[in-house]
Amino acid sequence: MANAIPQRDIRKSAMPRFRGHEGLRRSLRRALARGMLPGTVLLHGPPGCGKQSLAHWMARTRLCAEPDKPCDRCGSCRRALRLEHPDIHWYFPLPRPKGVSGRAKLEEALESARHERLGELRANPLRTEPGGEVRGIYLAVVRALRKQAHRRPATAEEHVFIVGEAEHLVPQEASPEAANALLKLLEEPPGPCRFILTSSKPGSLLDTIRSRTLPIRIPPLPPESVSAFLVEECDAQPAEADSAAALSQGSIGVALRFLDSSSALTEARNRALALLRAATEGKSGAAYARALEFSAGGARSQLDLLAALALWIRDLGAVCLGRDDHVVNADQLSFLRSAAGRLRLSPGQVAAAVEHVEEAQALASGNANPQLLISAMLLDLKDTFGGRR
Ligand SMILES: [Zn+2]
Repeated sequence: MANAIPQRDIRKSAMPRFRGHEGLRRSLRRALARGMLPGTVLLHGPPGCGKQSLAHWMARTRLCAEPDKPCDRCGSCRRALRLEHPDIHWYFPLPRPKGVSGRAKLEEALESARHERLGELRANPLRTEPGGEVRGIYLAVVRALRKQAHRRPATAEEHVFIVGEAEHLVPQEASPEAANALLKLLEEPPGPCRFILTSSKPGSLLDTIRSRTLPIRIPPLPPESVSAFLVEECDAQPAEADSAAALSQGSIGVALRFLDSSSALTEARNRALALLRAATEGKSGAAYARALEFSAGGARSQLDLLAALALWIRDLGAVCLGRDDHVVNADQLSFLRSAAGRLRLSPGQVAAAVEHVEEAQALASGNANPQLLISAMLLDLKDTFGGRR
């Protein structure tokens, strides 16, 4: 399947059925039913492990009218699944609107951008975030949220506010105004409000916000759950679903990108394999030639490639140790076995090779020249694989 994020499979609801984290959801359901959960929780865990989906599930559970909450059938659940529940408010980082000035205009522009994005998600719930743009949860957004909190809930007993990727509450004019405005709301909600914050970088939140929340850690999804999601929601073939799930490290978002054979992530994985081949097979000249294929700018765009390369090296290490069952790039097991047979790497060599990639990742984050950093890394890798270290 070339483009695995198909429009045609979209169910009537805008939120895919929630899978995984069964034990955690049992505890949350009990705590919500008994009113034991504080008004503000922070769901934190690795990117793509389902934090915002879980936040929606919690909102549905809280507002569902039936005993088996969330029933996904009552009016409240159905509206929530279509992202149309008037008392569930979902906020997330957005690019700053261009050419808009003035407080009221900015607030208006950000609200309409948020509704536009919700509309896109209704049309295609599996749509991934467009990357590359700087996004934030700006003070104007928190002001809009606060206005909403001052209104009475439309049908439910309380508002549920979901603030996704809350680490994007950005400081403006060198002061953390947006975060402070939200903090005030968390401290003194004007009416019945529940707040569910999510973050993959909880350390970046203001301490004062973190201390107002009950942190709940969401672990990565097991590969079986990711694979089941891909088969049931995207009509993926079981073998390709298993392969994308293994590569995803427990993230449905990442798995979707691997399922799409034309995605940037799939391309990064293929290019990383070519680099590994250059480092393990070719002569130094071939490695230089590979490095020259990279442009001289835009190192940060190589971060996916370097992350994929680290994974390939870990897989090679696993095969060298006879642990083929730990390989995530399982579709290339025969290449990995033949390379492992030739190189016979020790765990120390594998660790050193991964370190070289991590050094390159640090340089790429600092926007170093990609040609230079890739060629230096390839030579280090060749030395390491050749045992000259
Ligand atoms: Zn329901």
